[in-house]
Parts: sequence; C-alpha cells; structure tokens
Amino acid sequence: GEALAVSARVAPLGSRLVLLLVEDLTEARRIEAVRRDFVANVSHELKTPVGALSLLSEAVMDASDDPEAVERFAGRMQIEATRLTNLVQELIDLSRVQNDDPLEDAEPVRVDQLVAEAIDRCRHQAGTKQITMATGGTADLRVWGNRGQLAAALGNLVENAVNYSPSRTRVGIAARRVDAPGGDMIEIAVTDQGIGISDKDKERIFERFYRVDPARSRATGGTGLGLAIVKHVVASHGGEIAVWSAEGQGSTFTLRLPEAAAAREARDRYRDRD
Ligand code: ADP
Repeated sequence: GEALAVSARVAPLGSRLVLLLVEDLTEARRIEAVRRDFVANVSHELKTPVGALSLLSEAVMDASDDPEAVERFAGRMQIEATRLTNLVQELIDLSRVQNDDPLEDAEPVRVDQLVAEAIDRCRHQAGTKQITMATGGTADLRVWGNRGQLAAALGNLVENAVNYSPSRTRVGIAARRVDAPGGDMIEIAVTDQGIGISDKDKERIFERFYRVDPARSRATGGTGLGLAIVKHVVASHGGEIAVWSAEGQGSTFTLRLPEAAAAREARDRYRDRD
C-alpha cells in the first residue's frame, strides 16, 4: 500500500533510510488504528448508560401515576448516572496520566500515606464484604514521584483486590526496599484471595476497556480503565508492574517504583552534568 509506494520513491537514498521510513509509517498507522479503536470503545461505553438513562426517563414518565414504579426507575437512573460519572472521571484521569509528565512536580512520597489513602478509598466496599485489610513494611519508605498519580495507581490496585474477591477474605499490602542495578527501588505488593486471572487474560488486562467478565466489572462500577491508568503511571515513573495469579486462588500485583533518595540523587547527578 502507501508504505510500499513511499519506499519505492526513496529507494535511491539508501536502504537504511527506506527501512526507517517504512517503519515510521507502519508505526504511524498502528497508532492511528489504536486511536480509532479507542474512540469506538469510548463511544460504545458511553452509549450504554446514556441509552439506559433515556429508556428509564421514558419509563418514569409513563409510570407517573404509580409512585412505587417511579421510585424504582429513579433508583436505577441514579445507578446509571453514577456509572457515567465514573467513566468520565476515569477518562479524564487516563488522559491526564498519558499527557502530563509526572516527574515535573515529583517529590518524595511516603508509602504508608499512599497505602492509607488507598485503603480509605475502598473502606466502605471492604466493610460490606467483611474483607480484612492487612499492611506490612510500609513504615519509613518513600517513593519518588507525583503524589496524585501514585495514589491513583495504588488505589486502583487495592480497589480491584476488593472488587474481585469474595466476602470474608483478606487483602494484603506489603512494601519493602530492594536494590536494583539503576538504584534502589520500592516494591509494593497487593495480594488478594479472589477469583484470580487466567494466563490468557493476564496479558490483556492492562489494555484500555479490557475486562475478563464485563458484567461483573460493571456490577462493581468498573470501567476497564483502571489498570491502563496504573500501567501508564508506573511506566512514566520509571517503574515496573508484574502480576502473579492463580484462578480461584487469588492474585498479587507488584509495583516497583524508584526509591525517593536514590531517585533524587540520580536526578541531581544528571543535572550537574550540564
Ligand atoms: P475494571 O474497572 O473492570 O476493574 P481494570 O482495568 O481495573 O478494570 O481491570 C481490568 C480487568 O482485570 C477487570 O475487569 C478484571 O476482570 C481483571 N482484574 C483486575 N484486577 C483483578 C484482581 N485483583 N483479581 C481478579 N481479576 C482482576
């Protein structure tokens, strides 16, 4: 197609350049396809709650002489409106983590505070399901990065651990310092005793809008964007994320983020060079 036509035109300039151009075009086309898919997915995801709201409002009007029915429909409208709000908020969060450089206002961030915030965020849900939260090793550890983004990332992992676990199970959050070739890192592991993830799905859960079980995800207010946000935050902080899981047994999501003092030293060394 187009890429080949271009390569034929510039062929006399040398094969290296041709190869680069062809690769560039292929990459550009891939990005374009991903963007188109994303827009299609967003439209689809928005259509569902908006469609439900429109049907429900009609139902309310038709049932105006039946107060009980009106109340029932209004309740469902509220659920759909909440879903829509969540989705829009997560889209805003995703676009923010994709576009902002988090290290522009990076600072040392206490791990125990991040963990406390993450637990707070799903305290209600955990309470309803009688899920026990346990933390360990978080004292005196600091990571280097954007506080808001790091809180969002860890919050998403803990929220998922609670959402995809049965009642009366345990969610553990453990942190430790590990040495790595490029400087010390902080490892934060979120472990649940939930439904687990198959090997096949493990590869895809970080994609935007990918859910193993869309109905289950929707029922817990999930949007399918949480792990895509986590992945972006971790990557832009120079960190890593790994997942271990066994179906029916549970999952562990492990984050590795630069340790604050080590990262600051590395940054200062880099700055002093020029
Ligand atoms: P969602 O909003 O659906 O939770 P995420 O991007 O956070 O979206 O996660 C994508 C999918 O990965 C979820 O729909 C779920 O199927 C699966 N998943 C994520 N975390 C866990 C977990 N701790 N245990 C089991 N499945 C999980």
